[in-house]
Amino acid sequence: MNEKGNISIHTENIFPVIKKFLYSDNEIFLRELVSNAVDATQKIKRLASLGQYKGELGDITIDVAFDEEARTITISDNGIGMTAEEVKKYINQIAFSGAAEFVEKFKEAKDANEIIGRFGLGFYSAFMVADQVEIQTLSYQEGAEATRWVCDGSTSYEISEGNRTTRGTDIILHINNDSEEFLAKGKLQDILEKYGKFLPVPIRFGTRTTSEPDGDDDEGKPKYKSIEVDNIINNTTPAWTKSPSDLKDEDYLAFYRELYPYSMDEPLFWIHLNVDYPFNLTGILYFPKVKNDFEIQKNKIKLYSRQVFITDEVKDIVPEFLMLLHGVIDSPDIPLNVSRSFLQADSNVKKINAHITKKVADKLAELFKGDRKGFEEKWKDISLFVKYGMLSDDKFAEKANDFCLVRNTDQEVYTLKEYAEKVKDIQQDKDGNVVYLYTNDIAQQDSYISTAKDRGYDVLMMDSPIDAHFVGYLEQKTEKTQLKRVDADVIDKLIKAADSKELQLTEDESKTVVSLFEKAISRDNMKVEVDALGENELPVTVTIDEFMRRMKDMAQTGGGM
Ligand code: ADP
Ligand code: MG
Repeated sequence: MNEKGNISIHTENIFPVIKKFLYSDNEIFLRELVSNAVDATQKIKRLASLGQYKGELGDITIDVAFDEEARTITISDNGIGMTAEEVKKYINQIAFSGAAEFVEKFKEAKDANEIIGRFGLGFYSAFMVADQVEIQTLSYQEGAEATRWVCDGSTSYEISEGNRTTRGTDIILHINNDSEEFLAKGKLQDILEKYGKFLPVPIRFGTRTTSEPDGDDDEGKPKYKSIEVDNIINNTTPAWTKSPSDLKDEDYLAFYRELYPYSMDEPLFWIHLNVDYPFNLTGILYFPKVKNDFEIQKNKIKLYSRQVFITDEVKDIVPEFLMLLHGVIDSPDIPLNVSRSFLQADSNVKKINAHITKKVADKLAELFKGDRKGFEEKWKDISLFVKYGMLSDDKFAEKANDFCLVRNTDQEVYTLKEYAEKVKDIQQDKDGNVVYLYTNDIAQQDSYISTAKDRGYDVLMMDSPIDAHFVGYLEQKTEKTQLKRVDADVIDKLIKAADSKELQLTEDESKTVVSLFEKAISRDNMKVEVDALGENELPVTVTIDEFMRRMKDMAQTGGGM
């Protein structure tokens, strides 16, 4: 078997165009080729489990290797492999037709990821870094022959007999002069870790040195010797792929450290996302400890698709206010090659967004209900998310209304409803609005705060930067309520509506007063009324019916007294 052919597209040399266009993001060639190796391995595992592949599965580890002298990078898998026919079909036809279309349309494309996604150029991203790409492959099918395919980045390819003796595929990249940086251990390790840290099939990149116990020395102290072990890049079963019921708190914390090895803090709590309808999505979102509002890092959430890292730019998938969270989101419904314009257009993305918001709100509500004290302790750290969320998302605000807390200057904590109840009667203005007093600077407003408290009023703490916005929000969302920064003038204008409404005398006391008056005056048609509320200037009124009747008569005849 030895066949040469030409691909029938008009542009003579498309790869320089692709190369140039994709240049900014050229490290993704490794993501694409390793994902293909993972796919091929998952396929053979699936065929084996279905009983359609009867051979030994054997070691399925994927190897990534490089040779500085030969200037090659090789990705080898023990997956399903390809027959010569399949190479022609999957590598030549599909990709070349994609590439041809690309040449026509590349001017519209906005970023490199979009091109790869739209035109199925995953495999061809290899030409961003290689001037020659070679495939050595042997299909799992019985009687298949080893096949070699070579392409030098022009539109011509060559297929001949290959040298693989075991099932699977090697992709050999002959690295071009501009891409020498990739022929370095550290660089490749970094890229593999970035994209492949949680791939479902083990990825080996050479060996690494570690130490292991080696008995005791003469003084009885343990000795260690250094040994070479496989340098495995990935954890094939990251926490988010497991069932929440199989995970303990330690597992979630350990996974957090795996995600952010350099983070010193532990997360406050987490939410394990697990959706399969109407879209697939798994993930774990962590609430970080917040030291102050300016210190939190955004963009810490990592987006995965089938355990392949895509991006940590999750702006369009995660609602803005939740960008402050950390963790992982994995959805096969988000294609490997996402681009900004794709995300904005995709309806799944909107649903994902809404779902995450709902999940986070539900989790917070559950925490609040289940352990209010614990929730109050965490409030300092989560209040920013909650307030930010309420300001920016009505649906979230609806739910958060029940667990959003406010704190007064005595460090007492209330829900919004509780607080409204607390001050509704004691702090009103002359128009009957409830007035919430707040301070945004406890030191500066100290004397006003004391005055307010001396008069029995309550002052809220609203001293974080987001509170500047939250004050306005609360005022707008709370009926007949105004928020006023505490000062002498504001305090003076307050009316204690409740003072006047509260009963000054109990019912029994009122009755005693009435009978005392009745006994003392003792007249017929007399009516004694006690002002139990203390609303009138006269605490007791005595009216005599006859007198009232005469008054009325006079009023009707127009006479005076
Ligand atoms: P995609 O992965 O999106 O299908 P690619 O351009 O990355 O597109 O790959 C094209 C096709 O080539 C794959 O669908 C697969 O059929 C075949 N292929 C690529 N790499 C391998 C491999 N390592 N083993 C088996 N088949 C492969
Ligand atoms: Mg691919």
